[in-house]
Amino acid sequence: MAGCAEDPGEAAGAEDTSLILTNARVYTLAWDDPSPDGAVMPDAPHDENGWHPDAEAIAIQDGEILFVGSNQEAMELKGESSRVIDLAGATVIPGLVDSHTHVFGLGALLDQVNLIGVATEEEAVALIVERAKSVPKGEWIVGRGWDEGAWANAYPDKALLTSAVPDHPVFMDSLHGFGGWANQAALDAAGITPDTLVPVGGEMRLGSDGQPSGLFLNQGVEMLRDAVPTPSRETLAKQLLLGLHQMAADGFTVVHDAGLDTEAMSILEEFEAADKLPIRVYAMLSLRDEDLIRKWIEKGPDGDTDSMLVTRTVKAYYDGALGSRGARLLYDYADQPGHRGISGDGYGFNQALNAEAMKAGFQIAIHAIGDAGNREAINILEKVFNEHPSTAGNRHRIEHAQVISPDDVPRLGRLGIIASMEPPHAMEDKAWAEQRLGSERILGAYAWRSLREAGARLTFNSDNPGSDHSIFYGLHSAITRQDKNQQPEGGWYAEQRMTADEAVRGYTRWSAYASFREDSAGVIEPGRWADLTVMTVDPYVLADESPGDLLRGQIVMTIVGGKVIYERSAAPTGSNRGF
Ligand SMILES: [Zn+2]
Repeated sequence: MAGCAEDPGEAAGAEDTSLILTNARVYTLAWDDPSPDGAVMPDAPHDENGWHPDAEAIAIQDGEILFVGSNQEAMELKGESSRVIDLAGATVIPGLVDSHTHVFGLGALLDQVNLIGVATEEEAVALIVERAKSVPKGEWIVGRGWDEGAWANAYPDKALLTSAVPDHPVFMDSLHGFGGWANQAALDAAGITPDTLVPVGGEMRLGSDGQPSGLFLNQGVEMLRDAVPTPSRETLAKQLLLGLHQMAADGFTVVHDAGLDTEAMSILEEFEAADKLPIRVYAMLSLRDEDLIRKWIEKGPDGDTDSMLVTRTVKAYYDGALGSRGARLLYDYADQPGHRGISGDGYGFNQALNAEAMKAGFQIAIHAIGDAGNREAINILEKVFNEHPSTAGNRHRIEHAQVISPDDVPRLGRLGIIASMEPPHAMEDKAWAEQRLGSERILGAYAWRSLREAGARLTFNSDNPGSDHSIFYGLHSAITRQDKNQQPEGGWYAEQRMTADEAVRGYTRWSAYASFREDSAGVIEPGRWADLTVMTVDPYVLADESPGDLLRGQIVMTIVGGKVIYERSAAPTGSNRGF
C-alpha cells in the first residue's frame, strides 16, 4: 500500500481539470484486433523492427481524454492550473481491468496478520502483539502463513502466545491450511476442552497437563475456523477499501467483482453514494443470494455504464474446481476412474432463477470449469436464447471456461458467449491438470488460441485472491505460458500463447467489451474516459525481446476518470525499454 493515498480526494491531481502526461510510450490500442491467429493488423504501430508506441503525450480534461499525440501539441493545451507530469519514458496503456476478482476477499487477506516468510514462533508472536495494540480487547485476531512444513519439528503452542496476547482470541492459520495455532482466549471462545470431539481426519494436540496445547492439525483446524465470528459490516467496509486501494496501487482502474451478496452490495452502494470508491466496480450479483436476485429482477439492470458502481450481471456457479476434482467432466477423471465431478443442481445451481434473471435483461457470468460443466452451461444459455431471443445479445460470459470439448469450442463464438479466463491459472494448474485430464483432454484446457481461432471473444483476469493479480504475472503467463520461474522451457502447450497485443487487450479493450463499455473505455482517444495505467515496462517490446523481464515491471501511476488515484512515491525511472 506504500504510496497509496489514504483519501483519494487528497491525491495529487485530484480536482485538476487539466492533466498533461508527457514523454511517455503511449499505446492507444486504437488499431484493429489482431487476427484470430495473432497476426498484427496493418493499422497497428508495428513494422519490421517490431512494436513502437503510437503517441508520446496525453492531455486530460474533466475526466476525459482531450488529446493524444506529440509532446509539443499536448503542451500547447497547458492552462494556468494544468498539472504536467513528465513520465520519463514510462509506458501508458488504457486503464487495466481485472474482470474477475473478489475484492472483499483480497481485503480480508490484507487485513489479517501475515506470517508468510516468518521464521520463528517468537517472531510471529511479536507481530501478533503489534497487531493487538490496535484491536479492541476481546476481538479476534486472525492471521495466516506460518509454514507447517518448515515448522514441523517445533510446532508452536499456546504458551508464549497466551502470555503475550492474553486479552484477544488469536487464530493463526498455516501457509497451506493444514495447521492451526491458537491462544487460550481462542480456545475459551471456541469452547474447546480436552473432551471436545475432533473431526475425522483431524488432530488436537494436548499438553503435558492434558489440556489442548493450542495446536491443531488437518481437519482439526476447522474447530478454530468455525469459531471465528463472521466479520462485522464495519470490518467488511474496511476490507473493501483495503482491497480496492491495493488494486489501484497495482494499476487497475476497474474490477469486475464476481459474486456479491446482499451485505456486500449494500456496502458498495453506500461507498458509491459517498463518492468513496477509488476505482470503478462492475458488480456481479451472486445467484446464490435469491433475495438479492429477486430484488434486482424487480428493478432491472443498471441502465448507465458510467457510474463508479454498475450492476447488470449475475454470477452463477455451475460446477466445482479441477484441482479438487469437483469440475464436471464428460468422461471419468484420468486419475480417478468412476468419478466425473459435480454440476448443476448438485452444485446448488438454480436454473429457473438464472433464466428469470436473463429474461430481466441481466448478463450472466456462469462459472464452468470441466468440459461437461461448460457444455451444460452453454446448453442452458442457448435454451433461454431460443425461447427468448432478446436474451441472446447480453454478452453472457463463462467464467474460467477452463476445459472445453473440441465440439463445444465453436459454440462460444457462434452464440456470442465470452470466455472469461485467468492466464495465471494455466501456470498454477499445469503441475497436475494433465493428471486429471489425460493427454487428449488437456489440449482443450486453458485453450486461449483455440477459442480465438473459433471466433470466441476473451477477457482476462486473476480470480484473486486465489491467484496473484499482478498484471506483470498475468501478461507474462498469457504471453509465455511459463511460470514465475520461467518454466517450462518454450512454454506449456505453447501453441495456446497469446501475443502481447492480445494479452494487453485481454485486460483492457476486450474487458471493456465484456462490460458494455467499448465506447467509453479500452482505447486512449479523445472523448473517452481518462482511465490510464502507467508502468515501468513496455510489454509490447519486452514480449519480443525478453519476456521474462515482464515480471520485473512496476506500476508508476493509476488514473481513473482523470484523477491520479495512485502514484508511486519514487520518481519514475523509465527508459526506452522501461527500466
Ligand atoms: Zn472467482
